[in-house]
Parts: sequence; C-alpha cells; structure tokens
Amino acid sequence: MHETAAINDLDRLTAIFDRISAVGARPGEGVTRLAASAEDGAARAIFAEWMIEGGARIEQDAIGNQFACFDWAGEAAPWVFAGSHLDTQPRGGRFDGAFGVLAAGCAALAMSHDLGTMRFKPACNLAVVNWTNEEGARYQPSLTGSGVFSGALPLERALALRDGVGVELGAALAAIGITGATQNVPPRPKTYVELHVEQGRILNEAGRGIGVVEGTWAARKITASWIGRAAHTGPTPMADRRDALLAAAQGIAGFEAVTAQAYPHLHRSAARLVVEPNSPNVVVERATVWFELRGLDTAELDRAGQAVLALFAKAASDTGTRLEIAADMLRAPAEMDAGLMALVGEAARSAGFEPLIMRSVAGHDAVALQNSGIASALIFVPSVDGIAHHPDEFTHPEDLQAGLSVLESVLRRLVEAPAGQDKKD
Ligand SMILES: [Zn+2]
Repeated sequence: MHETAAINDLDRLTAIFDRISAVGARPGEGVTRLAASAEDGAARAIFAEWMIEGGARIEQDAIGNQFACFDWAGEAAPWVFAGSHLDTQPRGGRFDGAFGVLAAGCAALAMSHDLGTMRFKPACNLAVVNWTNEEGARYQPSLTGSGVFSGALPLERALALRDGVGVELGAALAAIGITGATQNVPPRPKTYVELHVEQGRILNEAGRGIGVVEGTWAARKITASWIGRAAHTGPTPMADRRDALLAAAQGIAGFEAVTAQAYPHLHRSAARLVVEPNSPNVVVERATVWFELRGLDTAELDRAGQAVLALFAKAASDTGTRLEIAADMLRAPAEMDAGLMALVGEAARSAGFEPLIMRSVAGHDAVALQNSGIASALIFVPSVDGIAHHPDEFTHPEDLQAGLSVLESVLRRLVEAPAGQDKKD
C-alpha cells in the first residue's frame, strides 16, 4: 500500500486551539461563543487571519459559512471540504466543533507545505470550512449554515430566524460584518470530511482511539407552547386562573413518564423553558418548552411523538389553557458514505489505530451534507467520560493527535490523484 506519512503537528494545533479557546472563555464557565455573537466574530477573525497567513483566501456565503480556500488544482478541479464549527453552547466545551475546524486547518497547512514536492500532488482544491450556527443554541434549527449550503434550509428562512430576544440571524450576522456572499465561494464539493469529539463514552469504553461513524440517530424535536391568561397572582380567584406554567409542568412530567415507560431506549429531554411575562406577580400567560426525542427508528419516534402530543393536549385541557405546537420536526437518520468510511478505516489502520464503526447520537454538519447527496465522512475521537456541552469537556492530547493524523491522511488521499491514476511514492 502506498502511504504518505501524516505530519503530526500537535504543536501547531495547540497554538491555534489555545487562541480560539480563549475567545468567550470565563474561568470555571467554559466557553460561550454563540452563533453570530461578538465572540463568534472574534473567533472567525482569528481563524481567517491564521488561514490567510497559511496561504488561503477566505470566502463566506450569505449565511456566514467561512471557507478557507486552497486553490491547489485550478478552477476546473473538484473541491474537497473539511471542517466543523466554531460556535459553542452557552458555557460549552473547547473541543466541540473548534477541534474539527482547526485540525482541518492544520492538515491543510501541512499539505500546503508539501506543495510542489513529490510528497503531494493535488488533483482537487481544498476548503477548510467553519459552518454557521451548528449548535442551535441561539437560533433553531441547528445545523443552520450546513443546512443552507446543502439546500435543506432556504436562505431567507434562515436569515429570518429569531433568537430568544427577537434578533434576526441576518441582523446578528450583519453586526459582525457578514452582509452577504463574497465573490468566489467554492461550489458544492465532491466530498466533505469532519473530525469531531465523540461526546459520548462508546470509544472510551471500547478502548479505541478512532471512531468511524456509519450513521446517526434520528431526532424528533417538538416546541410546545401553552397559552393561559395573565392575571394578578394575589387577588385573582383560583378558579379563574389559566396558568400556562402549570400546564407546561404537567406536560414535562407527563413527557418524562410516558416516554420512560413506553420508549425507555429513546433519549429524551425538555431542555429549554421560556415563560412570559416572567414576573413573580403575574400568572404565566405563555410557557414554551423545547422537547427532544432521539432514537434509531423513525417509526418509533412517530409513535412516541403522537403519544406525547396527546398528553400535551391533556395538560392543556386539565389547566384550561390552549396548546400551540410551534415546531415539530423530524431529523432523519443519516447513513454515511460507505466508500469514505472504508477510506477512513484504512487511514486509521495505517496510522496504527483499529477504528470502531459506530453511530452518532448527535447531529453534525456532516449529516446535513451527507443527506443532501455530498459524500461525507465523520471521524470521532474519544471524549473523557463522554462529557459534552459542559466546561469539563476534555480530549487527551494523544487522541487529538490521532484524529489529526487520520484526518490529514484521509484528506491527502482525497485531494491527490483521482482513483485510477498513479499515486506518488
Ligand atoms: Zn459540534
């Protein structure tokens, strides 16, 4: 087998990772870099400057996806993309997303260094991509940038999304200087590769350093509002009250009870609650809850979803409130590209790692691209104790190194001579 040894440049990764990790960081509170915030803008600027120093040109599309373009093979050549996202959850970890973007950047710089030598003969161009609002923390749905790029989410709808205080995504992007597409955004790539921390403990428990994702779980996401009537919490007679928060509480408790009993292997959460007008002296007029069910089987998610919608309606009738379903969407499970899985597996074995074929519970940008017909690969490295979306999220340096080596090896193979042509070395 012809191999190109990956340049294992953990120092390069650590230097830029530390710079990006400092943006939005507070002691003990992890990193808060919500999509299209000032912190997101600062991280984007550092990423762009770093890539420009490395010889890339920076482009961005109208939803703010950032592309660090390495035009190695000419205008007519196909593109390979690699990346992830620089936005985080509130008080999130440093590794989620940023690792994938910066590792792809390091791989691109190492390949650039070999340009014009026998070690590297590109037949494709490469873009290192930072996708906008992967997390879905500030704007829902998540995977916004990759969804728009891949055609699943209309641009106008995405720009009109509102955050918790009513700021449209388009306005938030404009506030950090993103007001439309630049001139030479790269076209749809032939392949996309994403390296990400696992955010679970499967790799840890299996004692493996590299995971090759074969597919993802499906997710059903339901946003339910109960609408009651604002009233004074003192004099209003109890019989007259229409308490939306009480309805939401019954909805949450019922959701937990029904799904735990009938669908125990589905992952479930009610993780966000917005109460209006949110005064201690006003009976709640509107309570909105964001529910999630995740599982492998979409038929089961359908049945579970029907059951919880029925109990939400019962919570409304029991409390004299009215139920509104503001959103109810099913994210289909993805099946990742088999050819790319084999390529990643081969690269991992060449680097000395027996990869674990596994499913991802979480969604990732690679899922959006794969589901739109762009052959995509998702590579995992272990998360210590599976901790994710928490300041204690951690991946050991040797695991970062392994992921970086495998990613670079995969990208070299993809960018080099197409199948059927001579490979160098
Ligand atoms: Zn992520």
